[in-house]
Amino acid sequence: MTYQPIILWYRNDLRVHDHEPLYRALETHAPIVPIYCFDPRQFSKTAYGFPKTGPFRAQFLLESVANLRQSLQNLGSNLIIKIGKPEVILPQIAHQVNASAIYFHQEVTAEEIAVETALSQGVKSLNVALKSFWGHTLYHCDRLPFDIPNIPELFTHFRKQVEKTATPDSCFPTPTQLPPLPEIETGNLPNLTELGVEKVAIASKAVLPFTGGESAGIARMEDYFWTGDRLRTYKETRNGMLGPDYSSKFSPWLSLGCLSPRYIYQQVQDYETQRIKNDSTYWLIFELLWRDYFRFICAKHGNAIFRQSGLQGVTIPWEEDWQKFTLWQQGKTGFPLVDANMRELAATGFMSNRGRQNVASFLTKNLGINWQMGAEWFESLLIDYDVCSNWGNWNYTAGVGNDARGFRFFNIIKQSKDYDPEGDYVKHWLPELAAVPAAKVHEPWKLLEVEQQRFGVKIGVDYPHPVVDLFESAKANEQVYKQQFS
Ligand SMILES: Cc1cc2nc3c(=O)[nH]c(=O)nc-3n(C[C@H](O)[C@H](O)[C@H](O)COP(=O)(O)OP(=O)(O)OC[C@H]3O[C@@H](n4cnc5c(N)ncnc54)[C@H](O)[C@@H]3O)c2cc1C
Repeated sequence: MTYQPIILWYRNDLRVHDHEPLYRALETHAPIVPIYCFDPRQFSKTAYGFPKTGPFRAQFLLESVANLRQSLQNLGSNLIIKIGKPEVILPQIAHQVNASAIYFHQEVTAEEIAVETALSQGVKSLNVALKSFWGHTLYHCDRLPFDIPNIPELFTHFRKQVEKTATPDSCFPTPTQLPPLPEIETGNLPNLTELGVEKVAIASKAVLPFTGGESAGIARMEDYFWTGDRLRTYKETRNGMLGPDYSSKFSPWLSLGCLSPRYIYQQVQDYETQRIKNDSTYWLIFELLWRDYFRFICAKHGNAIFRQSGLQGVTIPWEEDWQKFTLWQQGKTGFPLVDANMRELAATGFMSNRGRQNVASFLTKNLGINWQMGAEWFESLLIDYDVCSNWGNWNYTAGVGNDARGFRFFNIIKQSKDYDPEGDYVKHWLPELAAVPAAKVHEPWKLLEVEQQRFGVKIGVDYPHPVVDLFESAKANEQVYKQQFS
């Protein structure tokens, strides 16, 4: 019996392990035609004019697609690679190979849904079925104790109910062999120039030399869990900022789907059986639940997460002060913790969770600048950009999300002393402060003339004066914020 081929449309799910569309397509015994499209819209500009996909993520994406092609070739198939809109390319290929269906992982946010809608129009006249699968989260949406419109607004409520009543599904088996690709042009992997992206090398001071792809993602997990045995202390180390192992660094691979959260869960369970089960092993899963939560919240609220008024629908007169915003972007605010983190982001595409919370708080609660500008800057630069996690966390930090705790701001000085007591992190990214003693490095504006001379840094010349007074600015912005609720 001959079957019509099934097209497997790869998106942010660049793996062969735990991949339901691939598994289901194989079950049908039909030929499978895997395709990845580099969508030019993803390489255009954001609303505030930043490259939508900056150099770090673009490079990571290219490596991930290359690795996927290699994995599919090893299994006896291949990956068709195209540059163009999926809703144009997929119907063309479906027509060419006489496909019966297109299988893919569904997304939940506006741009991605628009592509799915356009695709359904594009295949209308072709008699090609579209079959979507839920697959980005640890918990399948059908296993949750509530349906999407009833997802609790608060993370704690979500987490407690999920933990009490739901269990993650097992991983789908990784195929050992795939049917050969029908006779078809497979296309070449583009380079950065063809995508309109300028190549930038990741600074050698980066936390990790991130390499895209399922193989590198699995290798990182092996290293972090098993070889390095870091999982047992994750809860204690996770708020660090310096070095490869304070946290898992799984996020870039999770964001492009090179690693499946269910696979990580399965490995944590193995670790708990073979090594130790403790608060740290629980906490990694707890963090994956944050990731799930933001995706379900996006599915529930549609475009609200992208609006300036956020999930709460609160109108705050944010400023769009480009001068101050540029200081923040470039790491020149005069607050070492903020500046070190922003320079790390610009040089590597990565920043710790502690850093992200601090710089986002500083932008919104001290500078009073529109959080959407910050979210777009992160979108552009982050190697691990995930639409739901990024915009969800920015909503949360800016105080426009579904977090009922009102105006909360990070005391940058206290945070610096708590999380970088020796100043190692700020000195790593701000070499101009390298000779300043730990006790003074987080408040360099307090250095006397004589100290500046002794430590080889002139404030206002080598390192900037603070752009605002930390507490005065927070107080002023708190008033603006509170007026909206009075
Ligand atoms: C303003 C802001 C923007 C952010 N943007 C992104 C983003 O675009 N992409 C992204 O993956 N994460 C984002 N995060 C969440 C978090 O900072 C990163 O997931 C984390 O720093 C990645 O490092 P890790 O993999 O070593 O994390 P670990 O501490 O090892 O955590 C393991 C995994 O849990 C998930 N996770 C941890 N914390 C969060 C969180 N707060 N929200 C959602 N998932 C979480 C991630 O998938 C992470 O890989 C953002 C946080 C803030 C405050």
